[in-house]
Amino acid sequence: LDLLNQTDPTVTELLQKELGRQREHLELIASENFASPAVMAAQGSVLTNKYAEGLPQKRYYGGCEFIDQIEQLAIDRAKELFGAANVNVQPHSGAQANFAVFLALLEPGDTILGMDLSHGGHLTHGSPVNVSGKWFEVAQYGVNKETERLDFDQIREIALEHKPKLIICGYSAYPRTIEFEKFRAIADEVGAYLLADIAHIAGLVATGHHPNPLPHCHVVTTTTHKTLRGPRGGLIMTNDNKLGKAFNKAVFPGTQGGPLEHVIAAKAVAFGEALQPAFKDYSEQVIKNAAALAKQLQNRGLKIVSGGTDNHLMLVDLRSVSMTGKQADKLVSTVNITANKNTVPFDPESPFVTSGMRLGSPAMTTRGMREWEFTEIGNIISDLLLNPEDEAVRQECKNRVATLCDRFPLYPHLEIRTPA
Ligand code: PLP
Repeated sequence: LDLLNQTDPTVTELLQKELGRQREHLELIASENFASPAVMAAQGSVLTNKYAEGLPQKRYYGGCEFIDQIEQLAIDRAKELFGAANVNVQPHSGAQANFAVFLALLEPGDTILGMDLSHGGHLTHGSPVNVSGKWFEVAQYGVNKETERLDFDQIREIALEHKPKLIICGYSAYPRTIEFEKFRAIADEVGAYLLADIAHIAGLVATGHHPNPLPHCHVVTTTTHKTLRGPRGGLIMTNDNKLGKAFNKAVFPGTQGGPLEHVIAAKAVAFGEALQPAFKDYSEQVIKNAAALAKQLQNRGLKIVSGGTDNHLMLVDLRSVSMTGKQADKLVSTVNITANKNTVPFDPESPFVTSGMRLGSPAMTTRGMREWEFTEIGNIISDLLLNPEDEAVRQECKNRVATLCDRFPLYPHLEIRTPA
């Protein structure tokens, strides 16, 4: 930071403010996490200087002898972590990974079947504002109105009607276990490819805390920065060697130029961390903490979509306290809790307002919090949502958030300096 400060005090000051914000807030956004200092060190390294178009041993640039070894290490570790025969570690993000899969498997005008965004799907699964919705015909499934879980009879019916070329499972806001084998049976029946986008649950899959889609799906994509706790980025995996080659081509030269080798090095470090026994304990704690939070919110009378959670996230249905997601999001932010408003299935509100709030446990579990602290977080959120106008309650909640954050320091090796 000293070096950065000498060159650019403006950026340094903002960076330090962001560090302070991360330290002082309860981070409950389900898609965020705190990467390790080792992951951040690899990403902020000389590897940022290198062009390496192509794949290890097959580059279009000279000077790649060490880059090749780094990228191969990332590939080999990802293969071990997920039990995948073919891995491309170059996608710059989860959206890029999905786009490359579409390029490899589809032609414009083909039909894809994904989950509706408002039920928990992702923008890249067929939303009209995304290329997936603009270039392809889109059929969408949702969750069952009663159970708020996947309904395979409904999914099969829609698949039989629309005959998609690609079916997408894996979500941004679905709190339950995904039964990949049931999706595969439907995909086989209609002759579709099956893509599992495990961006959210990748860390849980890596440690066996969620079933692995690879034995059941033609292709699996993920981000590397959510439950997997790596740098921001994407991955494409498949056990089909022919498809593996097609995905490699679809990433480069299909949709990207030079790979971000500093990020790929950070991916290698994160996969190395995820292969350690401690990461298994972490994943288990992520699930226990989410369950403790959901249970306490329910104990206090709040409705949780589908009645609970099997993974790292939950959706609070705020209609149980006559509040919108927008209001709740704003309210919790006043006491330094970061979360996000989210549609609930069959939401009567617009995506800007919503009736829900998505909460996740990965980030605060990384800071060391366990069930007791997540129960306390459940109490803080309930106290706020049940007393939205009470200033004294709000101040007390803010103090309790500060106490929790102080007890679990973030990046203690990093100093915040007040500008001279
Ligand atoms: N797929 C799913 C299921 C996601 O939840 C996300 C991000 O939230 C993505 C893809 C996109 O990842 P990125 O933001 O890295 O492009």
